[in-house]
Amino acid sequence: MKKYQPGENMQVLFVCPKCGRQLAWALPAAEMQCPKCGTWVNNKNRKGRGRDVFLPPDSDQTVLF
Ligand SMILES: [Zn+2]
Repeated sequence: MKKYQPGENMQVLFVCPKCGRQLAWALPAAEMQCPKCGTWVNNKNRKGRGRDVFLPPDSDQTVLF
């Protein structure tokens, strides 16, 4: 198993803090708008902490948006 630099390839689950909708897995630096209530969700206000995962760069689980 290769080791990856912490933070570089970490994807986190973005969950809208307002309506609780699960948006997508993305890098913590990402920002996305909840299609349901229009709230902008970023790493600071997202819910879902504690479910962070590390994905290898070649993972096909990468969420495109
Ligand atoms: Zn929402």
